[in-house]
Amino acid sequence: MTDFPDITPAIRARAPDLRGRLQANAPLAPYSWFRVGGPAQALFSPADESDLAYFLSLLPVDMPVTTVGLGSNLIVRDGGVPGVVIRLGGKAFGAVEVLPGEKIRAGAAVPDMRLARAAAEAGIAGLEFYCGIPGSIGGALRMNAGAHGGETTDVLIEARGVDRAGRIRVFSHADMGFSYRHSQAPDDVIFTSALFQGRAGEAATIAAEMSRITAAREAAQPIREKTGGSTFANPKPQSAWKVIDAAGCRGLLRGDAEVSPMHCNFLINRGAATAADIEGLGEEVRRRVKEHSGVDLRWEIRRIGIP
Ligand SMILES: Cc1cc2nc3c(=O)[nH]c(=O)nc-3n(C[C@H](O)[C@H](O)[C@H](O)COP(=O)(O)OP(=O)(O)OC[C@H]3O[C@@H](n4cnc5c(N)ncnc54)[C@H](O)[C@@H]3O)c2cc1C
Repeated sequence: MTDFPDITPAIRARAPDLRGRLQANAPLAPYSWFRVGGPAQALFSPADESDLAYFLSLLPVDMPVTTVGLGSNLIVRDGGVPGVVIRLGGKAFGAVEVLPGEKIRAGAAVPDMRLARAAAEAGIAGLEFYCGIPGSIGGALRMNAGAHGGETTDVLIEARGVDRAGRIRVFSHADMGFSYRHSQAPDDVIFTSALFQGRAGEAATIAAEMSRITAAREAAQPIREKTGGSTFANPKPQSAWKVIDAAGCRGLLRGDAEVSPMHCNFLINRGAATAADIEGLGEEVRRRVKEHSGVDLRWEIRRIGIP
């Protein structure tokens, strides 16, 4: 793998008051659950929201910008990601604040599980479903993350973010345009925080529901593997795993990439897979499913960068 030309000196020259961390050719594999893929040409971790806004306002308009969260729904391709990759760190974007009226505000870098726990401790019900989702609030807003009968759309009041021009924007629930695993908020927006509405509940009942969700997940999903979660969106009214299973893809291999024998809508890096192995396996699954049942599977996992 060859490195990208170093663009960080030119960026620093345009934005001399930058306070966040800017690195050239930074490996991204450690930031993705699959643990594969090439570097970011430049990786920026802003010091806070105003640093992010400053950075974006001064970045050349033709510079590609890609946002990553906790990388639990992501394949970083082997050639890496040209331009700037932005990853919000927990120090600046990791606060959780319990507010009156069963509301909670969380930074975009907060893991979904931490939000669920904070809500439980405060006796706020309705956010239990987040305890099983291994992403961040930023990823949950972009993907309308959900599970076990709850979705981000059910609990979100508003989200805050910064657009490509560096403007701070606030999106009401309606502005977010949520649908199944999707938000219509403009693609360029980097979410920085969100405000959620729960309802009054009993801490013990909430904790019991979270334990039930965790146990159900451990029994049904390969959650300790290097994976990206559900690979394809359910081709409603069918389930992705059913059409994949029917096409004989359970356990299918390409290099060290595998269709999980436990849950066949999950792809797994068994150790030495490349991003090309994983994506190629996914495409092979799509081809076989199309041939077998005529269904066009749509990737739910985001794929970024160059092959
Ligand atoms: C074992 C396992 C189980 C899973 N189970 C579920 C499940 O039950 N339900 C479910 O919905 N998902 C599930 N997922 C998928 C994943 O956890 C969710 O999609 C999650 O919301 C992704 O968040 P992330 O922070 O990891 O985002 P990433 O994977 O890093 O990125 C996903 C997308 O979000 C965007 N994004 C991330 N942060 C921001 C931000 N701050 N601003 C703007 N855009 C941003 C990225 O650009 C990208 O398009 C599972 C994944 C795994 C590995």
